[in-house]
Parts: sequence; C-alpha cells; structure tokens
Amino acid sequence: MDDDARPAARLTVLSGPSGVGKDSVIELIRARSPWIKLSVSVTTRKKRDYETDGEHYHFVTRSEFQRLVDGDQLLEWAEFAGNLYGTPRAQVEGWLAQGRPVLLKIDLQGARQVRATMPDAQLVFLAPPSVEELRRRLIGRGTDDEETIKRRLAHADEELAAEKEFDRTVVNDFVERAADELVGLLGSSFLTPAHAAAVPATPIHPAPIQTAHPTPALSMPTQLSTAHQQPGA
Ligand code: 5GP
Repeated sequence: MDDDARPAARLTVLSGPSGVGKDSVIELIRARSPWIKLSVSVTTRKKRDYETDGEHYHFVTRSEFQRLVDGDQLLEWAEFAGNLYGTPRAQVEGWLAQGRPVLLKIDLQGARQVRATMPDAQLVFLAPPSVEELRRRLIGRGTDDEETIKRRLAHADEELAAEKEFDRTVVNDFVERAADELVGLLGSSFLTPAHAAAVPATPIHPAPIQTAHPTPALSMPTQLSTAHQQPGA
C-alpha cells in the first residue's frame, strides 16, 4: 500500500469506569503492540509507586497544569476525583499527521470533549463483567485511600450509564482478550504492524494548532453526537 492509499489515521479513545482495568489493558498494549501510540497525559494527581513520570503520566503542579490550559496546549482536560487530567495536544496531532494509530485513555468528560471537537474519533467503552466485580476491583486494588475510593465509587454509576454514548464496548472479562479486541478495533482501520514499521520514526511535527478551545468540563454538553455504533452493529 502506498502512502496515498493509506487509510486516514483516526484517534481512538478508551474510557470506562474507574477500576475497570484500563491501566492493565493499556500496559499489555504498550508491551505487545508498540505501533500503537499511547498518549501520555498530564495530571496533578500524586504518582503511584508503580508509575514512572513521563511514561504513565507527566506529573505536574496545579499551576503548571493551568499554564497548559491557558496556552491551549491540551486537546481536552477534566477534573476527576479532585485531580486534573489532560491530553497534550501537540503529540497527538503530530502522530495523527504521521498516520499513526493513537490511543487515549481518558475519563468520560474527556471522551465527550474529544467527540465534540474531533467527530471522527472512535470511542471505545471498557466495561466490567458486572457492577459487583467493578466494586470489588475498586475497593481491592489498594492504591487509593478511603475517601478517594468513595469518590470513585460514586462516579462509577455515572460512568457506567454513559456506555450508550460510545461507538463500541469491550468487556474486560480477561485482560488479554480485552486488549486483543481493542487492538483489533484500532487495527481494522489503521496501519498494520508491518505497515507501521515502514513509517520512519521521525520526530513529531505537530499539526497546526486548532483554534477551537475545548470547553471546560463543567460546561460540556451532556449529549454526544448521534452517530453511534453499538457492539455487534
Ligand atoms: P487514574 O488516577 O486512576 O490514573 O485516572 C483517573 C481517571 O482519569 C481515569 O478514568 C483515567 O482514564 C482518566 N484520565 C487519565 N488521563 C486523562 C486525560 O488526559 N484526560 C482525561 N479527561 N481523563 C484522563
């Protein structure tokens, strides 16, 4: 396939309730599917022991985060459980301009912002096998204090109800199976691994910065656009 015949790169967003296992799925993809570009978010949350700055997140202060917002350097951003999270714009736009498949792991508010500003993006909802299992995972994972767990549990119901806003659902029953399914969704419309290997690893040249500024999370529309493809559709 020559460059002209290459399908246009499309952004894929992975979202789902806190505790559903997004990080485990992403870790597998990071290890096994290096042609898929994973955006590294900025956050004001405290680093967890197993996390590496610059790999899992860029950990910043609130004032550093605010500077990024003021400079229109975030594609989307949201406040989640008391912390700020955002997607650096230049890196994602650069990868897309190179025709690379890009995966964002973001929360529901962020997914809604991406849908509003980038309607071609594919939105994938990672669902737990059951609500009980989700609660068990959230309480059992031992990375958060009691107050944070409470906030995340309260948020989970709203996040579960949002599944219908997504193009696809992947059930995280087994992390390897879920990761494979997600890679399949990315791969079906993007570069194949062999094709991606042929794309030179040149430095990122960001696409022109969009002027439309993402609206802050609190005033985002609650309804998404109408073009949705449910699982099996
Ligand atoms: P955690 O603190 O567990 O790593 O992430 C909390 C939530 O923030 C998760 O739902 C995660 O997907 C979301 N998140 C991580 N990075 C971003 C981001 O850049 N933007 C948005 N909107 N949410 C994010």
